[in-house]
Amino acid sequence: MPGFKDIIGHKREIEHLEKAISTGKVSHAYIFSGEKGTGKLTLANAFAMALQCTGEGEKPCGTCHSCHQAASGNHPDIIHITHEKPNSIGVDDVRDQLVGDVQIRPYNGKYKIYIMPDAEKMTVQAQNAILKTIEEPPEYAVIILLTDNEQGFLDTIRSRCVLIQLKPVPDEQVKKYLMEHVEIPDYQADICAAFAQGNIGKAERLATSEDFNAIKASAMKLIRKAGTMSISDIIEYVKEVQDYKISIQDYLDILALWYRDMVYFKATKDVNGIIFQDELRTIRETVKLCSYEGVEEVMQAIETAKTRLAANVNFDLTMELLFLVIKENIHG
Ligand SMILES: [Zn+2]
Repeated sequence: MPGFKDIIGHKREIEHLEKAISTGKVSHAYIFSGEKGTGKLTLANAFAMALQCTGEGEKPCGTCHSCHQAASGNHPDIIHITHEKPNSIGVDDVRDQLVGDVQIRPYNGKYKIYIMPDAEKMTVQAQNAILKTIEEPPEYAVIILLTDNEQGFLDTIRSRCVLIQLKPVPDEQVKKYLMEHVEIPDYQADICAAFAQGNIGKAERLATSEDFNAIKASAMKLIRKAGTMSISDIIEYVKEVQDYKISIQDYLDILALWYRDMVYFKATKDVNGIIFQDELRTIRETVKLCSYEGVEEVMQAIETAKTRLAANVNFDLTMELLFLVIKENIHG
């Protein structure tokens, strides 16, 4: 489990947390907010490790007993809140693991730290249940709520937490990280970094996917053939993507990346800024078949499709609407 120094980006947020520790001004409640994969949990774990560290100097030292316990996920005073139902954190979950438990003093740490991933899934009752703990916490309690949507919290919760907002990490940093940590060629790192839009977790997911080349080839084939395929064939084709270990949303992001290249090339004629460097010929050819507005419209349709899928709109219908827009605007 990494300490602060192993985390990519988020420099200001880390400085804030380090200062809180060194000055003893640690808040009892935090919200770490940021898109999925921005590293909320990694940061929360590093913060917890640093808070509990008993070593000298820079924290977390990574070598003391407490750091070892934290790194192996076995620190008795760092508690990760889990939940029974996949889509909601109920009042029983928080009563058992937090509200009741927090009254028991730390086992051997200075703090007792609760980390709750997907905290926006708390029901209103669950939020009200933890409210009292957040209002009148024992001195040793630190509660860290992780979320990709802090608007999902009651105002009373939000107003009592320190908000740490995690922004996507710049592409260059993501690329550097991938080149150093995952052995992939330069152009693949470019694609993964652009695809992830600052989201290290997402970049790593694609970069380490054994299916990277197959996924990319599938997307390229679809882009080339969509014009002449029937909608039902396209839907069947896209369904096959689920054999790879990426989500349809991720797949759509790869398509969006391609169209971004097209807009970029159309606007600048500059080949250096192209992400799909190994597909320049296809880009040159496809660009002739569509208008600037047409590509913009396609990119907008991809975003809409992602939103629809997230809202559980019927898959076939969503794909049909998306590919109608693509067929209308890209004449293959
Ligand atoms: Zn330590």
